[in-house]
Amino acid sequence: MTIKTILAVDDTATNLDILEELLEQYDVIATISGVDALKIVEEEKKIDLILLDIMMPNMNGYEVCKKLKADERTKDIPIIFITAKADENSIEKAYDLGGTDYVTKPFRPKELLSRVKKELKYHEMMEELKILASTDPMTKLYNRRYFTQISEHTLDLMKREKKNLSVIMLDIDKFKNVNDTYGHKVGDDVIIALSNKLLEHQRKSDICCRYGGEEFVILLPNTSINGANVLAQKIREDIEALTINTSSNKDLKFTVSLGVSQVNLENEYNIELALKRADDALYEAKETGRNRVCCKMTI
Ligand code: GH3
Ligand code: MG
Ligand code: MG
Repeated sequence: MTIKTILAVDDTATNLDILEELLEQYDVIATISGVDALKIVEEEKKIDLILLDIMMPNMNGYEVCKKLKADERTKDIPIIFITAKADENSIEKAYDLGGTDYVTKPFRPKELLSRVKKELKYHEMMEELKILASTDPMTKLYNRRYFTQISEHTLDLMKREKKNLSVIMLDIDKFKNVNDTYGHKVGDDVIIALSNKLLEHQRKSDICCRYGGEEFVILLPNTSINGANVLAQKIREDIEALTINTSSNKDLKFTVSLGVSQVNLENEYNIELALKRADDALYEAKETGRNRVCCKMTI
């Protein structure tokens, strides 16, 4: 079992010492500053829980919480407020801002530890559910539902940052023949091998998704249609070079066709049209011989 990481934020260093001792079974990162807490969350990537004081100079706990909840990447990290503020309005505000729990100082150590354990367990379950709900079990790629959700968010981000957003659609060539010749199990192996290749190519910000049975979509933030075309060509070549073992002594080779397009951020408000163009380009790739990449910028 991996040790959980807890970030403790309190401007009084002795409070942090007490927390570190109480939470010795965990990996505790301690800081006396709200500003530093945000930096640590940004850099550390894997914080499982935050214990957050409210009254702190420069940036108070409420502001830290607000910032974390406004960011897609950090909004699900549970926050337990630990504070001397015991009035009802302060408690209400903490929950309104997205806090998960509220403990007043001086706290009872065993009670706090129990609350921490409960919160970590709940968070772990939620994370597992999130993965189950957003991925395809066979390939571990994102599923179509997640793709729809994240593409809206990514589009907003790219508009704001004035960056390019491209999309690749990929479909296995003559896949029905694979199933008919080698059976469904080998067909599945082909889909898994292809998915692993896509994951190898995936940069951190890319979103690879199993869109349908043997159809895949890759969303590429910060990427122009030319960049997407280069990646699509590379994927096509790598797939062509793959060999799948079958139970018969004949090894299996297969190819894919790809369609590429770019979202027109000036006048498109979702990625539907770009997907349609990529799909048209994919159709063209199929029509003109398969095992190739076609690009389409306009309808
Ligand atoms: P094209 O080059 O035009 O794309 O031809 P194709 O044979 O790949 O296209 P078609 O759409 O006719 O067939 C797709 C096949 O993919 C049919 C379906 O049974 C198979 N398929 C879809 N999902 C899976 C899966 O999860 N596993 C397996 N083994 N086959 C699947
Ligand atoms: Mg196909
Ligand atoms: Mg198909």
